[in-house]
Amino acid sequence: MSYPVTYYCPACGTLVELQREGYLADKAVTPYPLEGWSYADPDEPFEADGSGTDGEDVDADGVRFVCGESEAGGLRWTGEHAPDGDPSLVPEGADGCGEPFYLSFVRYEDGQEVDPGDPTEFVEVASDRPSGPRGPSGPGLGF
Ligand SMILES: [Zn+2]
Repeated sequence: MSYPVTYYCPACGTLVELQREGYLADKAVTPYPLEGWSYADPDEPFEADGSGTDGEDVDADGVRFVCGESEAGGLRWTGEHAPDGDPSLVPEGADGCGEPFYLSFVRYEDGQEVDPGDPTEFVEVASDRPSGPRGPSGPGLGF
C-alpha cells in the first residue's frame, strides 16, 4: 500500500507530493546530490520490491526531482509552498522553479548508517500528510 509523502523544494519551497511504498527511510532533501548516493527519476522504480518490476533489483538511493517539471505516476506538484519558501523563483505559469533537488534515502553499509557529511547543510524534510498548510516543525530531521 502506498501513501502520499510531501517534500519541499530547497530553492523555492514548492511542495511536491509523491506516492511512496515506505520501504526506504528518508534521510534528507538537498539541492545537490549526496556523494555516494545514486538517484533515480521519479518515474523509475526507485523503491525495490515495488509493483511489477519482475523482482528487479533497484539500485537507487534517492530520487532526483526537477522542481515543477518532473512527471511520474504518483507524483503531484501541489501548488503549495513552504511558509519560508521563495515563490518569486517560480516563473509565471510554472509549477516550480525548474531547479533539481534530491531526495536521499537512508543508506547502510556494514550495518552502519552512512553519514553523508555535514548535517547543517540539510534542509528539513516535510513529512506531513498533505492535509493542511502546516509548515515544517521541530528542530531536526528526526532520525
Ligand atoms: Zn523549486
